[in-house]
Amino acid sequence: MEVWFTERQTDAVSIGLKVKAVLWRERTPYQELAVVDTEAYGRTLVLDGAIQTTERDEYVYHEMIAQVPLAVHPHPRRVAVIGGGDGGAIREILRHPEVEEAHLVEIDERVVEVAQRFFPEIAVGLTDDRTRLHFTDGIAWAREARDFDVILVDSTDPVGPAQGLFTPDFYRTLYEALAPDGIMVAQSESPFLQPELLRQIVQGVRQHFPITRVYLATIPTYPSGLWSFTWGSKRQDPEAVPEMVGEWAQSLRYWTPAVHRAAFCLPPFVQELIDA
Ligand code: SAM
Repeated sequence: MEVWFTERQTDAVSIGLKVKAVLWRERTPYQELAVVDTEAYGRTLVLDGAIQTTERDEYVYHEMIAQVPLAVHPHPRRVAVIGGGDGGAIREILRHPEVEEAHLVEIDERVVEVAQRFFPEIAVGLTDDRTRLHFTDGIAWAREARDFDVILVDSTDPVGPAQGLFTPDFYRTLYEALAPDGIMVAQSESPFLQPELLRQIVQGVRQHFPITRVYLATIPTYPSGLWSFTWGSKRQDPEAVPEMVGEWAQSLRYWTPAVHRAAFCLPPFVQELIDA
């Protein structure tokens, strides 16, 4: 008998993965959490029925959310991730030797515990000496934060506690939490399946950050496979990535300086969407 996991991505689109085993299921105080072992993508972390990360394609998302701003920032010492309980963004941040503090601000402690048990290669940085874990709401945390070099918004979709992470007010809070060279990057969903949401995120970031850009990556298990990230900076040019980068880049599998620059080249349908 075949068993399939189906994520219903919209009312009219779903993705199906053939299941080898359901490894974990629980209801946390915030969401339904599951770990499913799948034939094509390996272990898959699922929250409220939505794929968060899989063993086979996680590096694309985690490298692209973290390495794009970290490669550009001249001295990323204090970095934070809001959401991101699987630890993948923290792993990428810690590749940079100049990072002194990597803060993870995750509302749901169970996501971190389950990631450490079932995804040790993704969660590897969560026990690093430079990592600081805060189990709290990222919105409240950001109001008190100051002098960060880079802040990543690695959130679930805008429902439940993640809703406030997609508002112009929150982007203003991030602006105030960042140092003068500061950069924020937020995952901003699929230009094909959530175009209005992407437009709304870009407009919200643009209200506060003088440099606002969108970049893209191909993530097979996310809705439509084409994923967007929204960049906001006070003065850093997103495309000013050095040609020669440090040793930290040698084991990467997706990000390179050339991929970085190419990611900011938008097809007209995305450019029109965010210009409108
Ligand atoms: N890469 C993933 C994606 O785009 O599907 C997101 C991964 S990560 C698991 C998302 C995390 O954001 C979840 O663990 C969730 O608990 C957390 N989260 C949602 N709302 C939050 C909030 N207001 N503050 C902090 N963390 C939040």
